[in-house]
Amino acid sequence: MTLPVFPSQRAPVYKDVPDEKWNDWRWQLSHRLNSTADFETILELTESEKRALSSKNLFRVDITPYFVSLIDPQDPHDPIRRQVIPTEKEIIPYTGMMEDSLAEDQHSPVPGLVHRYPDRVLMLITTQCASYCRYCTRGRIVGDPSATFSQEEFDMQIAYLERTPQVRDVLLSGGDPLVLAPKLLERLLTRLQAIPHIEIVRIGSRVPVFMPMRITDELCSMLRKYHPLWLNIHVNHPNEITAELAQACARLADAGIPLGNQSVLLAGINDCVHIQRKLVQDLVRIRVRPYYLYQCDLVEGAGHFRTPVSKGIEIIEGLRGHTTGFAVPTFVVDAPGGGGKIPVMPNYLISSSDHKIVLRNYEGFITTYEEPLEYHAHDSKKCKFCQKKKLERGQAGVAGLLDGERMFIKPEGFDQLHIRGGEKHRLRQKTKKWEPLGIGPGEIDTGEIDK
Ligand SMILES: *Cc1c(COP(=O)(O)O)cnc(C)c1O
Repeated sequence: MTLPVFPSQRAPVYKDVPDEKWNDWRWQLSHRLNSTADFETILELTESEKRALSSKNLFRVDITPYFVSLIDPQDPHDPIRRQVIPTEKEIIPYTGMMEDSLAEDQHSPVPGLVHRYPDRVLMLITTQCASYCRYCTRGRIVGDPSATFSQEEFDMQIAYLERTPQVRDVLLSGGDPLVLAPKLLERLLTRLQAIPHIEIVRIGSRVPVFMPMRITDELCSMLRKYHPLWLNIHVNHPNEITAELAQACARLADAGIPLGNQSVLLAGINDCVHIQRKLVQDLVRIRVRPYYLYQCDLVEGAGHFRTPVSKGIEIIEGLRGHTTGFAVPTFVVDAPGGGGKIPVMPNYLISSSDHKIVLRNYEGFITTYEEPLEYHAHDSKKCKFCQKKKLERGQAGVAGLLDGERMFIKPEGFDQLHIRGGEKHRLRQKTKKWEPLGIGPGEIDTGEIDK
Protein backbone atom coordinates (compact mmCIF):
# COMPACT_ATOMS: atom_id res chain seq x y z
CA MET A 1 0.00 0.00 0.00
CA THR A 2 1.39 3.38 -0.93
CA LEU A 3 0.86 6.00 1.72
CA PRO A 4 -1.20 8.87 0.45
CA VAL A 5 0.69 12.02 -0.45
CA PHE A 6 -1.61 14.97 -0.05
CA PRO A 7 -0.50 18.43 -1.12
CA SER A 8 0.45 21.20 1.25
CA GLN A 9 0.60 24.72 -0.11
CA ARG A 10 1.05 28.32 0.87
CA ALA A 11 0.27 31.28 -1.33
CA PRO A 12 3.47 33.11 -2.39
CA VAL A 13 2.57 36.12 -0.22
CA TYR A 14 3.00 33.94 2.90
CA LYS A 15 6.36 32.43 1.89
CA ASP A 16 8.27 34.47 4.49
CA VAL A 17 5.90 33.81 7.39
CA PRO A 18 7.86 31.72 9.91
CA ASP A 19 6.50 28.19 10.39
CA GLU A 20 5.74 28.80 14.08
CA LYS A 21 3.36 31.55 13.05
CA TRP A 22 1.84 29.76 10.08
CA ASN A 23 1.17 26.71 12.22
CA ASP A 24 -0.35 28.73 15.05
CA TRP A 25 -4.14 28.84 14.79
CA ARG A 26 -4.26 32.19 16.56
CA TRP A 27 -2.09 33.67 13.81
CA GLN A 28 -4.39 32.11 11.19
CA LEU A 29 -7.48 33.60 12.86
CA SER A 30 -6.02 37.06 13.25
CA HIS A 31 -4.74 37.15 9.66
CA ARG A 32 -7.99 36.20 7.96
CA LEU A 33 -8.77 37.89 4.65
CA ASN A 34 -11.99 39.78 4.12
CA SER A 35 -11.49 42.84 1.90
CA THR A 36 -10.79 43.48 -1.75
CA ALA A 37 -7.30 44.69 -0.79
CA ASP A 38 -6.61 41.49 1.21
CA PHE A 39 -7.62 39.23 -1.65
CA GLU A 40 -5.69 41.17 -4.24
CA THR A 41 -2.45 40.14 -2.52
CA ILE A 42 -3.32 36.56 -3.51
CA LEU A 43 -5.34 36.61 -6.72
CA GLU A 44 -6.98 38.87 -9.25
CA LEU A 45 -10.60 39.45 -8.30
CA THR A 46 -13.30 39.35 -10.98
CA GLU A 47 -15.62 42.32 -11.39
CA SER A 48 -18.44 40.30 -9.89
CA GLU A 49 -16.35 39.43 -6.80
CA LYS A 50 -15.32 43.07 -6.38
CA ARG A 51 -18.91 44.26 -6.59
CA ALA A 52 -20.01 41.63 -4.08
CA LEU A 53 -17.23 42.55 -1.64
CA SER A 54 -18.22 46.19 -1.74
CA SER A 55 -21.96 45.60 -1.34
CA LYS A 56 -23.80 46.23 1.91
CA ASN A 57 -25.69 43.46 3.73
CA LEU A 58 -23.22 40.88 2.48
CA PHE A 59 -23.00 37.71 4.55
CA ARG A 60 -19.74 37.88 6.48
CA VAL A 61 -16.51 37.18 4.59
CA ASP A 62 -13.45 35.84 6.41
CA ILE A 63 -11.00 33.26 5.15
CA THR A 64 -7.92 31.85 6.84
CA PRO A 65 -4.58 32.28 5.01
CA TYR A 66 -4.28 28.48 5.06
CA PHE A 67 -7.56 27.96 3.19
CA VAL A 68 -7.02 30.82 0.75
CA SER A 69 -3.69 29.24 -0.18
CA LEU A 70 -5.50 26.20 -1.59
CA ILE A 71 -7.08 28.34 -4.33
CA ASP A 72 -5.59 28.26 -7.82
CA PRO A 73 -5.26 32.04 -8.39
CA GLN A 74 -5.52 31.57 -12.17
CA ASP A 75 -8.95 29.98 -12.02
CA PRO A 76 -12.00 32.13 -11.25
CA HIS A 77 -14.06 28.91 -11.03
CA ASP A 78 -11.74 27.25 -8.54
CA PRO A 79 -13.93 25.04 -6.29
CA ILE A 80 -12.41 26.43 -3.09
CA ARG A 81 -12.62 30.03 -4.26
CA ARG A 82 -16.31 29.59 -5.11
CA GLN A 83 -17.09 28.25 -1.61
CA VAL A 84 -15.66 31.24 0.26
CA ILE A 85 -15.26 34.31 -1.98
CA PRO A 86 -18.61 35.99 -2.75
CA THR A 87 -19.84 36.94 -6.21
CA GLU A 88 -22.72 39.26 -6.95
CA LYS A 89 -24.90 36.23 -7.73
CA GLU A 90 -25.27 35.96 -3.97
CA ILE A 91 -27.30 39.12 -3.88
CA ILE A 92 -29.93 37.82 -6.32
CA PRO A 93 -33.19 36.64 -4.74
CA TYR A 94 -34.88 33.52 -6.12
CA THR A 95 -38.19 31.65 -5.88
CA GLY A 96 -38.44 29.60 -2.73
CA MET A 97 -35.79 31.55 -0.83
CA MET A 98 -36.31 31.88 2.94
CA GLU A 99 -34.50 33.36 5.88
CA ASP A 100 -34.73 30.19 7.99
CA SER A 101 -35.67 27.53 5.46
CA LEU A 102 -35.44 24.66 7.96
CA ALA A 103 -37.66 26.54 10.47
CA GLU A 104 -34.99 25.94 13.09
CA ASP A 105 -35.90 28.93 15.21
CA GLN A 106 -39.50 27.71 15.27
CA HIS A 107 -38.37 24.32 16.57
CA SER A 108 -36.28 25.88 19.35
CA PRO A 109 -37.74 25.58 22.85
CA VAL A 110 -34.93 27.88 24.05
CA PRO A 111 -32.58 30.06 21.96
CA GLY A 112 -30.04 27.99 20.05
CA LEU A 113 -31.46 24.58 20.87
CA VAL A 114 -33.29 22.90 17.98
CA HIS A 115 -35.34 19.94 19.19
CA ARG A 116 -36.78 18.45 16.01
CA TYR A 117 -36.29 14.72 16.41
CA PRO A 118 -37.56 12.68 19.37
CA ASP A 119 -34.25 11.60 20.91
CA ARG A 120 -31.66 14.18 19.86
CA VAL A 121 -31.09 17.90 19.68
CA LEU A 122 -29.01 20.35 17.75
CA MET A 123 -27.29 22.78 20.08
CA LEU A 124 -25.94 25.98 18.57
CA ILE A 125 -23.17 27.20 20.83
CA THR A 126 -21.59 30.05 18.85
CA THR A 127 -22.25 32.07 15.70
CA GLN A 128 -18.56 32.33 14.83
CA CYS A 129 -16.59 30.21 12.35
CA ALA A 130 -12.96 30.02 11.25
CA SER A 131 -14.06 30.99 7.70
CA TYR A 132 -17.51 31.50 6.21
CA CYS A 133 -19.13 29.32 3.53
CA ARG A 134 -21.11 31.38 1.01
CA TYR A 135 -24.02 28.88 1.03
CA CYS A 136 -24.32 28.84 4.84
CA THR A 137 -27.65 27.39 5.92
CA ARG A 138 -27.57 29.50 9.07
CA GLY A 139 -26.59 32.81 7.49
CA ARG A 140 -29.41 34.45 9.45
CA ILE A 141 -27.29 34.27 12.62
CA VAL A 142 -23.85 32.97 11.69
CA GLY A 143 -21.03 35.50 11.37
CA ASP A 144 -22.79 38.07 13.49
CA PRO A 145 -20.92 38.38 16.81
CA SER A 146 -23.89 40.25 18.31
CA ALA A 147 -26.16 37.27 17.58
CA THR A 148 -24.01 34.83 19.54
CA PHE A 149 -25.25 33.04 22.63
CA SER A 150 -24.99 34.48 26.11
CA GLN A 151 -24.05 32.63 29.30
CA GLU A 152 -27.69 32.93 30.30
CA GLU A 153 -28.79 31.22 27.07
CA PHE A 154 -26.23 28.43 27.58
CA ASP A 155 -27.77 27.91 31.01
CA MET A 156 -31.26 27.76 29.47
CA GLN A 157 -30.04 25.19 26.93
CA ILE A 158 -28.52 23.03 29.67
CA ALA A 159 -31.61 23.40 31.86
CA TYR A 160 -33.80 22.24 28.96
CA LEU A 161 -31.58 19.19 28.43
CA GLU A 162 -31.65 18.37 32.13
CA ARG A 163 -35.43 18.36 32.22
CA THR A 164 -35.86 16.48 28.91
CA PRO A 165 -34.85 12.84 29.51
CA GLN A 166 -35.84 11.72 26.02
CA VAL A 167 -32.74 13.50 24.65
CA ARG A 168 -29.90 10.96 24.43
CA ASP A 169 -27.80 12.60 21.71
CA VAL A 170 -26.60 16.21 21.60
CA LEU A 171 -25.14 17.62 18.40
CA LEU A 172 -23.01 20.70 18.98
CA SER A 173 -22.91 23.09 16.08
CA GLY A 174 -23.16 26.81 15.40
CA GLY A 175 -21.19 28.49 14.07
CA ASP A 176 -18.28 26.23 14.74
CA PRO A 177 -17.92 24.73 18.24
CA LEU A 178 -14.15 24.41 17.79
CA VAL A 179 -13.63 28.18 17.55
CA LEU A 180 -15.15 28.57 20.99
CA ALA A 181 -12.55 29.34 23.67
CA PRO A 182 -11.26 25.88 24.74
CA LYS A 183 -12.15 26.56 28.40
CA LEU A 184 -15.75 27.38 27.44
CA LEU A 185 -16.04 24.31 25.24
CA GLU A 186 -14.65 22.11 27.98
CA ARG A 187 -17.01 23.56 30.58
CA LEU A 188 -19.91 22.80 28.27
CA LEU A 189 -18.73 19.22 27.62
CA THR A 190 -18.38 18.70 31.38
CA ARG A 191 -21.93 19.89 31.95
CA LEU A 192 -23.29 17.63 29.22
CA GLN A 193 -21.34 14.67 30.57
CA ALA A 194 -22.96 15.23 33.97
CA ILE A 195 -26.49 14.74 32.57
CA PRO A 196 -27.25 11.04 33.08
CA HIS A 197 -29.59 10.50 30.12
CA ILE A 198 -27.20 11.99 27.54
CA GLU A 199 -25.51 9.00 25.93
CA ILE A 200 -23.47 10.61 23.15
CA VAL A 201 -22.22 14.03 22.11
CA ARG A 202 -21.30 14.98 18.58
CA ILE A 203 -19.57 18.02 17.16
CA GLY A 204 -20.04 19.43 13.68
CA SER A 205 -16.96 21.44 12.74
CA ARG A 206 -15.19 22.79 9.69
CA VAL A 207 -12.18 23.88 11.73
CA PRO A 208 -10.09 20.87 10.62
CA VAL A 209 -10.70 22.00 7.02
CA PHE A 210 -10.29 25.76 7.43
CA MET A 211 -7.61 25.72 10.10
CA PRO A 212 -6.16 22.23 10.67
CA MET A 213 -3.45 23.66 12.95
CA ARG A 214 -6.19 24.15 15.56
CA ILE A 215 -6.32 20.37 16.04
CA THR A 216 -3.44 20.26 18.48
CA ASP A 217 -2.48 17.35 20.71
CA GLU A 218 -3.63 19.47 23.60
CA LEU A 219 -7.12 19.93 22.12
CA CYS A 220 -7.34 16.19 21.38
CA SER A 221 -6.37 15.26 24.94
CA MET A 222 -9.13 17.54 26.19
CA LEU A 223 -11.75 16.12 23.78
CA ARG A 224 -10.93 12.49 24.52
CA LYS A 225 -12.04 12.93 28.12
CA TYR A 226 -15.60 13.31 26.91
CA HIS A 227 -16.18 10.01 25.12
CA PRO A 228 -18.35 8.79 23.49
CA LEU A 229 -17.65 11.84 21.35
CA TRP A 230 -18.20 11.84 17.57
CA LEU A 231 -17.15 14.50 15.09
CA ASN A 232 -18.33 15.40 11.61
CA ILE A 233 -16.22 17.60 9.37
CA HIS A 234 -17.36 19.38 6.19
CA VAL A 235 -15.35 18.77 3.01
CA ASN A 236 -16.91 19.38 -0.42
CA HIS A 237 -14.08 18.88 -2.88
CA PRO A 238 -10.95 16.70 -3.06
CA ASN A 239 -8.77 19.85 -3.28
CA GLU A 240 -9.56 20.46 0.40
CA ILE A 241 -7.83 17.23 1.40
CA THR A 242 -4.29 18.29 2.22
CA ALA A 243 -1.41 16.93 4.26
CA GLU A 244 -2.50 19.27 7.08
CA LEU A 245 -6.12 18.05 7.07
CA ALA A 246 -4.88 14.45 6.98
CA GLN A 247 -2.75 15.11 10.05
CA ALA A 248 -5.59 16.83 11.92
CA CYS A 249 -7.89 13.88 11.19
CA ALA A 250 -5.21 11.40 12.24
CA ARG A 251 -4.92 13.17 15.59
CA LEU A 252 -8.67 13.16 16.14
CA ALA A 253 -9.04 9.54 15.06
CA ASP A 254 -6.09 8.52 17.25
CA ALA A 255 -7.89 10.20 20.15
CA GLY A 256 -10.67 7.67 19.51
CA ILE A 257 -13.09 10.11 17.90
CA PRO A 258 -15.01 8.52 15.02
CA LEU A 259 -14.98 10.94 12.08
CA GLY A 260 -17.67 11.59 9.48
CA ASN A 261 -18.09 14.06 6.67
CA GLN A 262 -21.04 16.15 5.56
CA SER A 263 -20.90 17.70 2.08
CA VAL A 264 -23.25 20.05 0.35
CA LEU A 265 -24.02 19.44 -3.30
CA LEU A 266 -22.97 22.68 -4.99
CA ALA A 267 -23.35 23.71 -8.63
CA GLY A 268 -19.99 24.38 -10.27
CA ILE A 269 -18.10 22.96 -7.29
CA ASN A 270 -18.86 19.28 -6.77
CA ASP A 271 -21.88 18.46 -8.94
CA CYS A 272 -19.98 15.68 -10.70
CA VAL A 273 -19.89 11.94 -10.10
CA HIS A 274 -16.14 11.80 -10.69
CA ILE A 275 -15.31 14.61 -8.27
CA GLN A 276 -17.56 12.98 -5.66
CA ARG A 277 -16.00 9.55 -6.14
CA LYS A 278 -12.51 10.99 -5.69
CA LEU A 279 -13.74 12.96 -2.67
CA VAL A 280 -15.22 9.98 -0.82
CA GLN A 281 -12.24 7.77 -1.66
CA ASP A 282 -9.77 10.37 -0.35
CA LEU A 283 -11.91 10.86 2.77
CA VAL A 284 -11.75 7.19 3.75
CA ARG A 285 -7.96 7.28 3.28
CA ILE A 286 -7.82 9.92 6.01
CA ARG A 287 -10.20 7.82 8.16
CA VAL A 288 -13.26 9.99 7.61
CA ARG A 289 -16.48 8.22 6.71
CA PRO A 290 -18.80 10.09 4.32
CA TYR A 291 -22.08 10.61 6.21
CA TYR A 292 -24.44 12.99 4.42
CA LEU A 293 -24.53 14.71 1.04
CA TYR A 294 -26.99 17.59 1.36
CA GLN A 295 -29.19 19.15 -1.24
CA CYS A 296 -28.45 22.90 -0.95
CA ASP A 297 -30.93 24.67 1.35
CA LEU A 298 -33.32 27.41 0.21
CA VAL A 299 -31.45 30.19 1.99
CA GLU A 300 -30.48 33.69 0.94
CA GLY A 301 -27.32 33.86 -1.12
CA ALA A 302 -27.40 30.19 -2.11
CA GLY A 303 -29.56 30.33 -5.25
CA HIS A 304 -26.70 29.98 -7.72
CA PHE A 305 -25.28 26.99 -5.85
CA ARG A 306 -28.40 24.91 -6.24
CA THR A 307 -28.62 21.87 -8.51
CA PRO A 308 -31.69 19.82 -9.40
CA VAL A 309 -32.28 17.07 -6.81
CA SER A 310 -31.75 14.55 -9.62
CA LYS A 311 -28.04 15.50 -9.67
CA GLY A 312 -27.71 14.03 -6.18
CA ILE A 313 -29.51 10.85 -7.25
CA GLU A 314 -27.15 10.57 -10.21
CA ILE A 315 -24.16 10.92 -7.88
CA ILE A 316 -25.40 8.17 -5.57
CA GLU A 317 -26.02 6.00 -8.66
CA GLY A 318 -22.36 6.52 -9.55
CA LEU A 319 -21.11 5.66 -6.07
CA ARG A 320 -23.21 2.77 -4.73
CA GLY A 321 -21.66 -0.48 -5.94
CA HIS A 322 -18.94 1.39 -7.81
CA THR A 323 -16.90 2.10 -4.70
CA THR A 324 -16.50 1.07 -1.05
CA GLY A 325 -19.93 0.74 0.54
CA PHE A 326 -19.05 2.75 3.62
CA ALA A 327 -17.72 5.56 1.43
CA VAL A 328 -21.22 6.22 0.05
CA PRO A 329 -22.98 9.05 1.89
CA THR A 330 -26.74 9.31 2.29
CA PHE A 331 -28.09 12.00 -0.02
CA VAL A 332 -30.67 14.07 1.88
CA VAL A 333 -33.00 16.98 1.33
CA ASP A 334 -33.35 18.88 4.58
CA ALA A 335 -37.08 19.56 4.50
CA PRO A 336 -38.10 23.19 4.04
CA GLY A 337 -40.43 24.12 6.86
CA GLY A 338 -38.63 21.90 9.33
CA GLY A 339 -39.33 18.25 8.50
CA GLY A 340 -35.76 17.14 9.04
CA LYS A 341 -33.49 15.27 6.65
CA ILE A 342 -35.22 13.18 4.03
CA PRO A 343 -33.10 10.59 2.20
CA VAL A 344 -33.45 10.41 -1.57
CA MET A 345 -31.84 7.71 -3.69
CA PRO A 346 -32.10 5.75 -6.91
CA ASN A 347 -34.65 2.91 -7.03
CA TYR A 348 -33.29 -0.60 -6.82
CA LEU A 349 -36.62 -2.39 -6.30
CA ILE A 350 -38.13 -2.91 -9.74
CA SER A 351 -41.23 -4.98 -9.05
CA SER A 352 -42.80 -7.46 -6.65
CA SER A 353 -45.43 -10.16 -6.27
CA ASP A 354 -46.75 -11.83 -3.10
CA HIS A 355 -43.71 -14.09 -2.90
CA LYS A 356 -40.96 -12.51 -4.98
CA ILE A 357 -39.26 -9.20 -5.55
CA VAL A 358 -37.36 -8.05 -8.61
CA LEU A 359 -34.20 -6.04 -7.98
CA ARG A 360 -31.58 -4.41 -10.13
CA ASN A 361 -27.97 -3.78 -9.10
CA TYR A 362 -25.62 -0.92 -9.95
CA GLU A 363 -24.56 -2.69 -13.19
CA GLY A 364 -28.12 -3.12 -14.40
CA PHE A 365 -28.09 -6.83 -13.55
CA ILE A 366 -31.70 -7.80 -12.78
CA THR A 367 -32.36 -10.51 -10.26
CA THR A 368 -35.15 -11.94 -8.12
CA TYR A 369 -35.35 -12.66 -4.44
CA GLU A 370 -37.74 -15.42 -3.42
CA GLU A 371 -39.48 -14.41 -0.22
CA PRO A 372 -40.26 -16.89 2.58
CA LEU A 373 -43.50 -18.85 2.14
CA GLU A 374 -43.87 -19.08 5.88
CA TYR A 375 -42.86 -16.22 8.08
CA HIS A 376 -43.50 -16.38 11.81
CA ALA A 377 -44.02 -12.78 12.71
CA HIS A 378 -41.95 -11.25 15.48
CA ASP A 379 -43.89 -11.62 18.72
CA SER A 380 -43.88 -8.20 20.29
CA LYS A 381 -45.76 -9.45 23.34
CA LYS A 382 -42.80 -11.62 24.26
CA CYS A 383 -40.10 -9.16 23.26
CA LYS A 384 -38.78 -7.09 26.11
CA PHE A 385 -37.45 -4.42 23.75
CA CYS A 386 -40.95 -3.98 22.31
CA GLN A 387 -42.43 -3.71 25.79
CA LYS A 388 -39.96 -1.11 26.94
CA LYS A 389 -39.37 1.04 23.90
CA LYS A 390 -42.49 2.70 22.54
CA LEU A 391 -42.01 5.31 19.87
CA GLU A 392 -42.84 8.75 21.14
CA ARG A 393 -46.57 9.45 20.77
CA GLY A 394 -47.23 12.11 18.21
CA GLN A 395 -43.80 11.87 16.56
CA ALA A 396 -43.82 8.20 15.65
CA GLY A 397 -44.72 8.99 12.03
CA VAL A 398 -45.05 6.21 9.50
CA ALA A 399 -43.23 3.83 11.85
CA GLY A 400 -46.04 4.57 14.32
CA LEU A 401 -48.64 3.53 11.73
CA LEU A 402 -46.83 0.22 11.27
CA ASP A 403 -46.42 -0.19 15.00
CA GLY A 404 -50.17 0.23 15.57
CA GLU A 405 -49.76 3.44 17.53
CA ARG A 406 -52.39 4.99 15.28
CA MET A 407 -54.29 4.10 12.13
CA PHE A 408 -53.90 7.22 10.04
CA ILE A 409 -52.19 10.58 9.82
CA LYS A 410 -54.51 13.39 8.79
CA PRO A 411 -53.65 16.69 7.15
CA GLU A 412 -54.37 19.76 9.25
CA GLY A 413 -58.09 20.65 9.18
CA PHE A 414 -59.10 17.24 7.75
CA ASP A 415 -61.94 16.52 10.20
CA GLN A 416 -63.34 20.02 9.97
CA LEU A 417 -63.34 19.92 6.17
CA HIS A 418 -65.15 16.59 6.02
CA ILE A 419 -67.96 17.70 8.31
CA ARG A 420 -68.91 19.82 5.25
CA GLY A 421 -70.85 22.21 7.39
CA GLY A 422 -73.30 19.46 8.42
CA GLU A 423 -74.57 18.99 11.95
CA LYS A 424 -74.27 15.96 14.18
CA HIS A 425 -76.99 13.69 12.87
CA ARG A 426 -78.50 10.26 13.35
CA LEU A 427 -75.68 8.38 11.63
CA ARG A 428 -72.89 10.58 12.95
CA GLN A 429 -73.49 10.34 16.67
CA LYS A 430 -71.50 7.26 17.59
CA THR A 431 -67.85 8.38 17.62
CA LYS A 432 -66.48 4.86 18.14
CA LYS A 433 -67.73 3.96 14.69
CA TRP A 434 -64.38 4.88 13.19
CA GLU A 435 -62.30 2.78 15.53
CA PRO A 436 -61.33 -0.85 14.88
CA LEU A 437 -63.68 -3.39 16.42
CA GLY A 438 -60.86 -5.29 18.04
CA ILE A 439 -60.79 -8.21 15.64
CA GLY A 440 -57.64 -9.20 13.82
CA PRO A 441 -53.92 -9.64 14.29
CA GLY A 442 -53.51 -6.36 16.14
CA GLU A 443 -55.61 -7.79 18.98
CA ILE A 444 -54.59 -11.45 18.96
CA ASP A 445 -51.59 -12.92 20.67
CA THR A 446 -49.98 -14.58 17.67
CA GLY A 447 -47.71 -16.48 20.01
CA GLU A 448 -50.75 -18.50 21.11
CA ILE A 449 -51.70 -19.39 17.54
CA ASP A 450 -48.19 -20.68 16.80
CA LYS A 451 -48.51 -23.20 19.61
C1 LIG B 1 -29.23 17.11 11.32
C2 LIG B 1 -29.92 17.33 12.56
C3 LIG B 1 -29.84 16.41 13.62
C4 LIG B 1 -29.03 15.14 13.52
O1 LIG B 1 -29.59 14.30 12.56
P1 LIG B 1 -28.97 12.87 12.31
O2 LIG B 1 -29.72 12.33 11.13
O3 LIG B 1 -29.20 12.08 13.56
O4 LIG B 1 -27.51 13.04 12.05
C5 LIG B 1 -30.53 16.68 14.76
N1 LIG B 1 -31.28 17.79 14.89
C6 LIG B 1 -31.40 18.68 13.89
C7 LIG B 1 -32.26 19.86 14.08
C8 LIG B 1 -30.72 18.49 12.70
O5 LIG B 1 -30.83 19.39 11.71
